[in-house]
Amino acid sequence: MPGGTDQTLRPFLWRAEKLYPDTEIVSRTHQGIERYTYSEYSDRTAQLANAMDEAGVPDDARVATFCWNHNRHFETYFGIPTTGRQLHLINPLLPDEHIQFIVDDADDHLIFVDPSLLEKLEGAADGASEFDGVEQFVVIGDSVPETDLEPVTDYESFIEGNDTDYDWPTLSEDRPAGMCYTSGTTGKPKGVEYTHQMLWSHTMASQSPQGIPMDDTDVVMPVVPMFHVNAWGMPFSATAGGAKHVYPGPSPEPEDLAHLIEEEGVTITAGVPTVWLGLMEYMEDNEVDLSALDTLIVGGSAAPEAMIRFFDDHDVELLHAWGMSEMSPIGSVSHLKGGLEDLDYDTQVEKRGKQGLIAPGLEFKVIDDDGNEIDWDGEDFGELYVRGPWVTQEYFKRPEANREDYEDGWLKTGDIVSVDQDGYLKIVDRAKDVIKSGGEWISSVELENELMAHDDVAEATVIGVPHERWQERPVAFVVPGEGIDADQLEADLRDLIGEEYPKWWMPDEFITIDEVPKTATGKFDKKVLRDEYADQSLVEGQVPEDASPGED
Ligand code: ADP
Repeated sequence: MPGGTDQTLRPFLWRAEKLYPDTEIVSRTHQGIERYTYSEYSDRTAQLANAMDEAGVPDDARVATFCWNHNRHFETYFGIPTTGRQLHLINPLLPDEHIQFIVDDADDHLIFVDPSLLEKLEGAADGASEFDGVEQFVVIGDSVPETDLEPVTDYESFIEGNDTDYDWPTLSEDRPAGMCYTSGTTGKPKGVEYTHQMLWSHTMASQSPQGIPMDDTDVVMPVVPMFHVNAWGMPFSATAGGAKHVYPGPSPEPEDLAHLIEEEGVTITAGVPTVWLGLMEYMEDNEVDLSALDTLIVGGSAAPEAMIRFFDDHDVELLHAWGMSEMSPIGSVSHLKGGLEDLDYDTQVEKRGKQGLIAPGLEFKVIDDDGNEIDWDGEDFGELYVRGPWVTQEYFKRPEANREDYEDGWLKTGDIVSVDQDGYLKIVDRAKDVIKSGGEWISSVELENELMAHDDVAEATVIGVPHERWQERPVAFVVPGEGIDADQLEADLRDLIGEEYPKWWMPDEFITIDEVPKTATGKFDKKVLRDEYADQSLVEGQVPEDASPGED
């Protein structure tokens, strides 16, 4: 017998409003801190819903946001999907031509835009017929700055005067609720749609003890952008648990994050490693009280072990999580498995530094180059496939990409992983980044981690460059720390790699650069370097004869 109602987002907010009317939602803004309660939040989402009806936005339209993390952006998180419309979160850091493509591809009806991002949106729209489908722009705030975008109104006037009650429709769980585009480091961005059922099941799994649970005693601050896969689902989970929300506003600096953690008593926060590296650096010279903070979620890229140790020293548990846009996004969380508490500290940190244990509700398999499932011995590796209730089955309007990335109901993640005896997943590389040299694999990720662990290296990345004899050879790009002699550094790094890895893993070249190019989500953009070096096939003779695979 099926359950009585479909799995939709509305009950999460209904419960928070009824049980926790006075719990706060706090937001850093250009003007200072704004705060109100779930009760007022709920009234404003109803006003937003009524305003969209009033403005003639069809009840199945796609409605986009182009915003930082703040309370009004959060109003759209429930205010749009619970009316039946689809919330499309656009990443404003993407290049203009990607934004043009995305707005056109999604056929957005209305765009909510932050005043500080207005110029960026205008730039993307410039001369583009693609924005023709957009019927209206709403600038977040209480007035409209000078703009070419038309017709335009401001958010407060848009919702003002509307009823604070709304006749919320009973929706099917298959109704699209959300949408994001993957950042497209390999070609055009791909649209990923989230149904109510996907977001509901993702929320419930996040709320399980082996997910990232949050309850009415928590103060939750998503630093991960709200345009990046629903801020990893945290606004939904925090509401489901009745937690206080804290939003860090436009471009928060480490100092802003430190103040919010201290002053609002943040207990759970989440972001990519670079954010926390920034906070760690800030803490070198500044006293920060982290006593309220229990859990720091780190994902998007691998969490360095040094970061886990740093936060352990401050009594904050760093939970390493892995996910993808196609998975709404959480796939695994690196909790320490029951029974492993007796391991020595170093081994515990090593386990926690892996991408973790598959989230309850999902299944995975790992397939090697010969099409066989790998052994769970921590050594074998292959491509990770996943499936489950919050994993997408297809991309939006992209049949050719579907054929590549989906197989018999499984999502092919493109991540190359090993699995240890305890079931911990460890990402060895991205399928497109792994270096194939003389028929053997070299992990670019491992080399990068080794280089970046050196004190004098600010950033480093490693790519495979075409080679006549070995098909590909590794080349390292290194950003030396301030005042560091590049030649001496190269010699040190060669020694370091030489000690740790087989000879044929040694990069053929160490190239000094000022900065590693980054994608719109802050990850290293190897495509840029690969394009630059694609024609510079390394020639025979550059690799010492004894450096061939299998001879070490
Ligand atoms: P994009 O950044 O390309 O828009 P996603 O945010 O969906 O797309 O990125 C998903 C990819 O990010 C994963 O397939 C994986 O390679 C990488 N990733 C995510 N979390 C982690 C992690 N904890 N450690 C290492 N890599 C990660």
